[in-house]
Amino acid sequence: MALVAAVGLKANAASPAARIAASAAAVRVVLGGMLCLQVVDRPHSGRRAAMTSPTECKVSAKPAIPLPRPNHFLTRGREPVRSMSQLRTRRPRRSGVIIIGGGLAGQRCAEALRRNGYDAPIRMVCAEPHRPYDRPPLSKQLLAGAASADPPAYRPAEWYRRESIELLLRVAATELLPTERQVVLSDGSALRYDRLLIATGSRPRQLALLAGYENVWSLRTLDDCRALRTVVGAGRRLVVVGGGFIGLEVAATTRGLGAEVTIIEAAAAPLAGVLGSKLGRWFTRLHEGRGVRVVTDRSIERIHANGMIRALRLSTGEIVEADDVVVGIGVEPDIGWLAGSGLSTPAGIPVDPHGRTASAEVLAAGDAAATFDPRLGRHVPGSHWEAAARQGARAARAMLGLDPGDAPLTSFWTDQYGIRIQYLGHARLADAVVFDGNPTSASFTATFTRGGRAVGALLVGRPRALPAIRQLIEKGEP
Ligand code: FAD
Repeated sequence: MALVAAVGLKANAASPAARIAASAAAVRVVLGGMLCLQVVDRPHSGRRAAMTSPTECKVSAKPAIPLPRPNHFLTRGREPVRSMSQLRTRRPRRSGVIIIGGGLAGQRCAEALRRNGYDAPIRMVCAEPHRPYDRPPLSKQLLAGAASADPPAYRPAEWYRRESIELLLRVAATELLPTERQVVLSDGSALRYDRLLIATGSRPRQLALLAGYENVWSLRTLDDCRALRTVVGAGRRLVVVGGGFIGLEVAATTRGLGAEVTIIEAAAAPLAGVLGSKLGRWFTRLHEGRGVRVVTDRSIERIHANGMIRALRLSTGEIVEADDVVVGIGVEPDIGWLAGSGLSTPAGIPVDPHGRTASAEVLAAGDAAATFDPRLGRHVPGSHWEAAARQGARAARAMLGLDPGDAPLTSFWTDQYGIRIQYLGHARLADAVVFDGNPTSASFTATFTRGGRAVGALLVGRPRALPAIRQLIEKGEP
C-alpha cells in the first residue's frame, strides 16, 4: 500500500506548542492516494477537515460529522441491507475510519487518530453493550469487589461526543468485503470505509468436555466477570482449569474471597510453557502458600454432572469435587467473522510492522493480529495489554502515513496476592538464567540470557527495575 504523507511539520510532535504549529500549517495527509484531507488541530483552529470526494478536500467551518446525540450511538450511519447485490452496488453515505472491536487496541487507535489531527469520521463497531473498557481489572479488583461495580471504562461518554467518535454498541461485524471496502454488520447494515482497523481481540479457548454446563465459566468480558462474581465466595469449591496468567489471577482473587480453590494444570508447573518448570514452580509455591491446591501433570478424563458439573475425574483416577469451574486454558484470536476475506489464518491476522494486512486499506492490531516478532523470526498472535495498546496507536499512525516508531518488546504483567509480577522478552530463547535476589522470595529478578545477552526477564515484586531491564533486553546487552 502506498502511504504518502506530505508533512511539512510533524503533526504528531510531542509538545502542545509543536502540535499547534503543525496544525496551523494545516498538514496535508494523503492516505494511499485515495483520501485527501487537511489535518487541522480543532481546539486551536476551530475548523475541521471534511472529505468531499476520494481526491479532493475542503476545509469546512462545520464539524466533519455532527456531534451525535446519545441515542444516535446505536443507529447513525448505517443502512439496512436487503440483498448482497444491493450491498455491492450501494454506497453508504460516509466513510472515514471504521474500527471493528471496542477494546483496547481500537480505543488507542481512535485516540491516536484524533490526537494526530485526523478529522474525518471515526466509527467503532462494538459487539458488547458497554463503552470500551479495560480488561485487566476483571480478574483482579473487579472480581474481588462488588458485582455491580462500574465498568473500568477508558473514557466517559462525553469524550466520544466531544471527539466525534461514534460508538455502535451491541452490534458485531459479520463479514468483510475488502474489494468493496465494506463491512457487513449483525443488524444487516453495511459500513463503507477508507481505512479499517480489525481489533476484535481474542476469546477464551474452550474444553469440549466441559462445554455447556451452567457452572462452567470463562473470563473475558465485564459480563463474564459480573456473572462469576455472583457465584464465587467463601466456602465455594472452585476448580480452575489451566495455570496460565488468567487462571492464576482468578485463583488468587477468589482465594482472597474465601473460596476453596484447586488449580488443575496439565504441565509440570503453572506457566511452564512460558517460563520453564523451575520458575513455574515458584507460582505453585506462591499459591500453595495461600491455601490453593495446585495439581500438576494431570488432565481431566471425565466429569460427573447432572446439568451442573459436580466433580472432575483426573488422569490419575483422582476425583476433584467442584461447585464451579473456571476454564483458563488460553485464548485464540476472535476472527471467525473474517472467514472468506482472505486476510486471516488460525493464528490471527498476519500484519507487517505497521499493522497492515494483505488488503491495502485494512489494518489489524491487538490480540486479533499476528505480528512479526524479529526475535522469534515468525508471526505471533497477541494476548497482552501493552502490545494491544501500542499496536492500536501504531496502526493509527500508519493510517496517517506517520512513522509508527519501533515495535514494542513482548511483555505482560500480573498481580497475584498483592505481588506485581512482570515479564519481558522470550525466556524460551535463553540458554541460562541469572537471578538477582532470592528466587524463593517475593522479590527477585530472573534474567534469561542467550550467549550471555539478555533475551527476557521475570520481575517479581520489583516494578522499579523494569525500565533498566527493558533497555538491556532491547539492546541485547549482556
Ligand atoms: P479486546 O480488549 O478483547 O477487545 C476486543 C473487542 O472486540 C471486544 O469488546 C469484543 O467483544 C469485540 N469484538 C469481537 N468480535 C467482534 C466483532 N465481530 N464485531 C465487533 N466487535 C467485536 N494483559 C496483561 O498484559 N496484563 C494483565 O494483567 C492482563 N489481565 C487480563 C485480565 C483479563 C480478565 C483479560 C480478559 C485479559 C487480560 N490481559 C492482560 C490481556 C489484555 O487485556 C488483552 O491483551 C487486551 O485487552 C487486548 O486488547 P484488544 O483490543 O486486542 O482486544
